[in-house]
Amino acid sequence: MNNIKKILLIISGGIAAYKSLELIRIFTKNKIKVITILTNGGSKFITPLSISGLSGEKVYDDLFSLKDETEMGHIQLSREAEAIIVAPASANIIARTAHGLANDLASTVILASNKPVYFAPSMNVEMWKNPITQKNIKQLILNNIKIIGPEAGDLACGEEGNGRMTEPEKIFKSIILHSKKKKININALITAGPTYEAIDPVRFIGNKSSGKQGIALAKNLDELGAKVSLIIGPNNEKIPSSIKVINITTAKEMYNEVTKIKNVDVAICSAAVSDWAIKNPSKTKIKKNIKNPKINFTKNPDILKSIAKRKINRPKLVIGFAAETNNLINNAKKKLKEKECDWIIANDVLKNPDIFGGDKNKITFISNNGIEKWTKTSKNNVAKKLSKKILKYIENE
Ligand code: C5P
Repeated sequence: MNNIKKILLIISGGIAAYKSLELIRIFTKNKIKVITILTNGGSKFITPLSISGLSGEKVYDDLFSLKDETEMGHIQLSREAEAIIVAPASANIIARTAHGLANDLASTVILASNKPVYFAPSMNVEMWKNPITQKNIKQLILNNIKIIGPEAGDLACGEEGNGRMTEPEKIFKSIILHSKKKKININALITAGPTYEAIDPVRFIGNKSSGKQGIALAKNLDELGAKVSLIIGPNNEKIPSSIKVINITTAKEMYNEVTKIKNVDVAICSAAVSDWAIKNPSKTKIKKNIKNPKINFTKNPDILKSIAKRKINRPKLVIGFAAETNNLINNAKKKLKEKECDWIIANDVLKNPDIFGGDKNKITFISNNGIEKWTKTSKNNVAKKLSKKILKYIENE
């Protein structure tokens, strides 16, 4: 069943604008009403007349048209349709959206939208490859905008490469596929990254964790529709705005934030939590002339254990991580039992030191039902596979 009955098509300036007419034809043939906004640039390539001839609907093109604002204002335009597709999406509208500009009707509607937004870029290969465009695209993705294409091939400018707008039929299919995806209704709590324990005002004890695996899990579950709370230590990663991020520094702060969240279906403790904190961190910088400074430690709370052992509000599924340097399977199995969690994701950080901070992971999946050795793959692929397993587990609970 197609969930979209009305779509807002934004046609920006580009030679591929003529293909948008075909897109309108496909939408209407599939009983999807198409409302169109034609940008100033777009109007240099096709006319409102040809658009409304196919869509049978009015074409909007002027932010400050008083008549349009009384008939249907920019907020209403962004609310009326179930989705927005920008096709072709020029480098210009990509840049304006990435920077939150609202200087014409199209960019204002995108900014005001609370619906899924898709961009189908179309431009010269060098414009597409330009780091500025790529940075802008990353920003759109962070804001949950889906990017369709572009494709490689001959370009209108005579050059060859990535930059062709995806064919209308393919754009149509990916929007429908995405809209049909079953949205899951679960709450996920994820801990990620390192924790820092202060020694004095400038020094701390930390570790090599980047938080990338936890963030990849948060992104995948968020994409599937889960409500994700990510409690994360110091990191340099960009995290999509749809994920609720709680930044912490110490293990104690992470523990305090975790205990505040009661309604959790799945808890994933991927953080590399410091086992100890410094008992009385110095209030002033410890001077280097001290020959052998003494540091007293105090044990940090075990966050994973505290969640898994909850008497009330225990999540249906509690997942721990185990970074080991020896006896991977035995140590991980011991952890599964001692911490009373349901699954352990174990990795040998001595055999695979590049896991820290890298984009790949090699994990062994351990549960009471057995052991699975996964091949080394991207952290995103690990997250994808794990998210599927999580959903299956929760559905069968
Ligand atoms: O005991 P160990 O640190 O090896 O266990 C690793 C697992 O326990 C990870 O899932 C980590 O997030 C979690 N952990 C925790 N709180 C701690 C120590 C570890 O949640 N204080």
